[in-house]
Amino acid sequence: MLNIVIFGAPGSGKGTQSERLIKEFGLDHISTGDVLRKEIKEGSELGRVASEYINKGQLVPDELIVDMLAKVLDEKENAKGVIFDGFPRTIPQAVALKKMLNERGTDVSVMLNLHVEEDELIHRLLERGKVSGRSDDNLETIKSRLEVYHKQTAPLADFYIQEGKHVSIVGNGTIDDIFDKIKKALEDIK
Ligand code: AMP
Repeated sequence: MLNIVIFGAPGSGKGTQSERLIKEFGLDHISTGDVLRKEIKEGSELGRVASEYINKGQLVPDELIVDMLAKVLDEKENAKGVIFDGFPRTIPQAVALKKMLNERGTDVSVMLNLHVEEDELIHRLLERGKVSGRSDDNLETIKSRLEVYHKQTAPLADFYIQEGKHVSIVGNGTIDDIFDKIKKALEDIK
């Protein structure tokens, strides 16, 4: 299986590049943010708890996310590979992902780390906020999301460097340019 962790700050283009990867390689996609927003829409207990964290720009607790991910992963048993988008976001989540995949006879193939400058991230997220209807695409929440990213999520790069699976991608430029860089990186590992 080709299992890709697509990684980067909010607004770095993870969702956009995931769409291209799905089309090009026929992979399945798990976005934990999308799953949580669906839970909120459906009014589930998980959605209710999660929305309190999401609206403050904080991370939903690991246990909730890991349980949720395990259920979604079981539905992807026959996939050619899976793109993990917005997960893992903490070291315990990365450890849990490795264990879950190993138990299913597979592992993360590569972590693509999209680098975009802070001003550009804020600009993109504010633009997205005009059309996304997302409760967390406003300046105040964007600032906490970026802070949380730097403190809790960015250190995960070291985890994947140690695993020999980390690839840096400069996330500026057109969507096509960035996707070309991603494809080149994948050729090296396939
Ligand atoms: P995203 O759509 O990936 O930007 O996620 C939106 C929000 O959902 C985040 O700011 C978190 O509050 C929550 N969330 C999504 N994925 C995770 C995760 N892996 N761990 C914790 N919280 C998450």
